[in-house]
Amino acid sequence: FVFCNVILGPQSMLFGDCCPPASLSFFQTPRRIPYDEAVGQEFRPAKVGDSFGPTWETCWFKVELSIPQAWAGQEVHFVWESDGEGMVWRDGQPVQGLTKEGEKTSYILTSSLKESEPHSLTLYVELACNGLFGAGKGSMIAPPDPDRRFTLSKAELVIFNRDVYELLVDLEILLDMAQLLGEENQRSFQALYTANQMVNMCDVTDPSTFPAARDLAAAIFSQRNGKSQHTIHAVGHCHIDSAWLWPYEETIRKCARSWVTVVRLMERNPELTFACSQVSDLPLGDLSFGSWRGVTGSIQEFVAKEQFIPVGGTWVEMDGNLPSGESMVRQFLQGQLFFQEQFGRICSEFWLPDTFGYSAQLPQLMRGCGIRRFLTQKLSWNLVNTFPHHTFFWEGIDGSRVLTHFPPGDSYGMHGRVEEILKTVKNNKDKGCVNHSALLFGFGDGGGGPTQKMLDRMKRMSDTDGLPRVQISTPDRLFSVLEKESSQLCTWVGELFLELHNGTYTTQAQIKKGNRECERILHDVEVLSTLAVARGSAFQYPASQLQRLWRLLLLNQFHDVLPGSCIQLVVEDALQYYTEIRRVGARLQEEAVQSLCRELLQPKAGSTESTLVLNTLPWERTEVISRTGLPGHDGAPDLASGGGLREVRLSPSYWNRAPQTSLGSSHCTPFSTAFLLFFLHCCFSVPLCSRESVPDGCYANQFALFDDVPLYWDAWDVMDYHLETRKPVTMLLKPLEITLAGGLRGSASFSLQIGKSSTLTQEIILDATCPYLRFLTQVEWKEAHKFLKVEFPVQVRSTNATYEIQFGHLQRPTHWNTSWDWARFEVWAHKWLDLSEHGFGVALLNDCKYGASAHGNILSLSLLRAPKSPDATADIAHHQFTYAVMPHLGSFQDAGVIQCAYNMNFPLHAVPASSAQCPAWSAFSVSSPAVVLETVKQASPRGRTVVVRLYEAHGSTVVAWLQTSLPVKEAMLCDLLERPAAQGSLPLEQRGMRLSFTPFRVLSILLVLRQ
Ligand SMILES: [Zn+2]
Repeated sequence: FVFCNVILGPQSMLFGDCCPPASLSFFQTPRRIPYDEAVGQEFRPAKVGDSFGPTWETCWFKVELSIPQAWAGQEVHFVWESDGEGMVWRDGQPVQGLTKEGEKTSYILTSSLKESEPHSLTLYVELACNGLFGAGKGSMIAPPDPDRRFTLSKAELVIFNRDVYELLVDLEILLDMAQLLGEENQRSFQALYTANQMVNMCDVTDPSTFPAARDLAAAIFSQRNGKSQHTIHAVGHCHIDSAWLWPYEETIRKCARSWVTVVRLMERNPELTFACSQVSDLPLGDLSFGSWRGVTGSIQEFVAKEQFIPVGGTWVEMDGNLPSGESMVRQFLQGQLFFQEQFGRICSEFWLPDTFGYSAQLPQLMRGCGIRRFLTQKLSWNLVNTFPHHTFFWEGIDGSRVLTHFPPGDSYGMHGRVEEILKTVKNNKDKGCVNHSALLFGFGDGGGGPTQKMLDRMKRMSDTDGLPRVQISTPDRLFSVLEKESSQLCTWVGELFLELHNGTYTTQAQIKKGNRECERILHDVEVLSTLAVARGSAFQYPASQLQRLWRLLLLNQFHDVLPGSCIQLVVEDALQYYTEIRRVGARLQEEAVQSLCRELLQPKAGSTESTLVLNTLPWERTEVISRTGLPGHDGAPDLASGGGLREVRLSPSYWNRAPQTSLGSSHCTPFSTAFLLFFLHCCFSVPLCSRESVPDGCYANQFALFDDVPLYWDAWDVMDYHLETRKPVTMLLKPLEITLAGGLRGSASFSLQIGKSSTLTQEIILDATCPYLRFLTQVEWKEAHKFLKVEFPVQVRSTNATYEIQFGHLQRPTHWNTSWDWARFEVWAHKWLDLSEHGFGVALLNDCKYGASAHGNILSLSLLRAPKSPDATADIAHHQFTYAVMPHLGSFQDAGVIQCAYNMNFPLHAVPASSAQCPAWSAFSVSSPAVVLETVKQASPRGRTVVVRLYEAHGSTVVAWLQTSLPVKEAMLCDLLERPAAQGSLPLEQRGMRLSFTPFRVLSILLVLRQ
């Protein structure tokens, strides 16, 4: 200990002589600017001890250095210690990231100063005024402190004593072995006695005594293991959140700092491997910072050497629950195409270590995108149950399986310490089946990556008796060994549900709404543009614009953006991206419709006005549409009907023959909820069902407010104890009033006071022919730590409820028998959830909500939260959303719940047209109601090839015929990356193309069109 104090203390021997910079000056800017622009600015003098800021500013420092001649033969470092995140630039190139928090404060100028080397040089340090984890005021996840100052505490040249450093690492490992291997282990005593001998042998005033001490350490480290020892595959890593406690734009620089540092380390350590996920941040960086190209060049070089290993396969490390099935396909499609273009190969591992749960549809999507392996560790965050495996087969709802590994150290940011190495083996739940596991080392979340010290630790433990073997390895080597050992592995079927962060299904409602709406917009633009191309016009498919919009949508699906666990700056960026998708999407849709229906839209002389209705879904629809906004109409609802992907032109007189539905007269009671009950009763007994849907004494459409104060992760978590604070919302502001008394549409509206200062206005709408009752809802939300839900107690008894997920659905229990059941007190769903018993059920549909639950006979939809960290303004806004209740006879499949949820999310498009007669036209139809045609788009690479994607939605084995009126000359099955399948050719028969489905199977087909 005396030895350590001497070496580490104020008289530290780690560093020798030092010398201040010849000059130090700075320039400050609120923008993130390229190097060339920065160095042309006027720099003012600065000194160590100065502080800079405020938060999010950037300081550029010009540092002129003059290395003393007397330091010949020495290892010379430029040491920089400051708050904030720094990047060193030399000769116009970024060369090294510097952050105290990431244990990187040295830039190695030379490992042995030679006479011939330049002794005078100029460096620039670009200092971002934010920490590795942003700038939270008081705690990491608190909203950023806008006024933080960043102090420069050290800037100097030093002589680095590498032999002292090596001795310190030796001692650290030996002391850890002595402490952690335990008294029962002979090796702990051997390590302790060796360390003691080393201390005795070293004379701190005489460095010539050090090598002999190092030899003692080397002797114990080189005592080998037996053959049976566990092998740890250590892979360098650096988790960089695309946006979280800092904005997207800073992430570009975080990537630059992290990756350039890794490249420097690789130059010095040819064995170092680094798994780089989030590679899509590369083009962002490249676009914004031209001077980055030197870095990407070196990255390519190390990719070729298989040291820098792109992993992931997706565009970003997206949320694993909320993106639609098609969005998830596009995450892989855009990601894998990018990997192919940049690195000449696609990824074979799906890499998603930090996402808040994993959809049970992911195994099939991975397999369809050339991926059979999956790595995460997030389920180690489960609050209630310990996940029983680290290496296992994960089986999705369709039966697809992928080999899955959770690094047993339960982290993606390890430091290569003895403690972590031992935990990796001790904690490993499957060590009876497999003898290999992964260890990911490097600073993460905010970037940073591996350090030299992490590597040096693990070099000493490569094969040391008493410790597991530690190899610097690659994901491919690890999974290849696991595949060989996989015969005894267990299988986990269904979703990987994270028992934490369940508030992320609801937080930042406007981001959720933007996601759902933009998924719909891109769907419709693709369908209509594809049809416009197919109908032989000169229409150009907007491929590059769609790619850009998709990439914005996919970016916002990042695992701290779509879940809403980000700061206000990120929310602003995300909402702006949605605005752009809406704006450009509307224009693209307009262009496609103009091209597709040109003849019908141009008013002809003497023609009367009518309405053209476009349906982008693949089944016939009969719906009431509102013609508000169309010329010559007063907003009175009309009835439109049409077949799959079909444009319908109907003369206004048609409406007169539409069925009339009366909602009955209003008998509103003054009680806040009773009228809802009444309303539901009268609606439910329209032609829908012959039985009551709501039990006696219960109220449907009941709003409830809960206290919502998580233990720590405010925006992320809703804890089970919130359920104990339920307060029904009963304060009526404006009583129920009939707004449309009948005809094709009946509606009624009312207003409620919620909490102290929020209000809710609702219009309840029932349309003729529509089997569900819609609730158009507006909320002025001004709460703090409250959770608003709407509840539907229903007269249904079932132990399981059904929830829509990507390309399918799954069931979760309605009871809390076991800890695994009650840990799912708050779950997620997409467009619908359903509670059914034999012959009858009730479904809840929604247009932009994801949080839900079904406990006993109560279906709840989670509407709004009000967390204060990391965004103090989260969800304090005006909100508009729609949900619907749909009682049904028979099963939800037979009742068409799935189709109804689509209909509500994909409204018919009504455009003014001339009244020239035109036959209805349908592009596609599918013979089975179990099969949903989800996607119609141009194939990539482009040309006159169309991709259509269908899935089996009922959970059944079925043969379906796909019929199309497009001029198809050839059809073949393909994978999700749009690569033709071997023997995938599909004969074109009279009835169409014959397609065989098993439950929840997703099929993609390439249709080559005639010119
Ligand atoms: Zn993350």
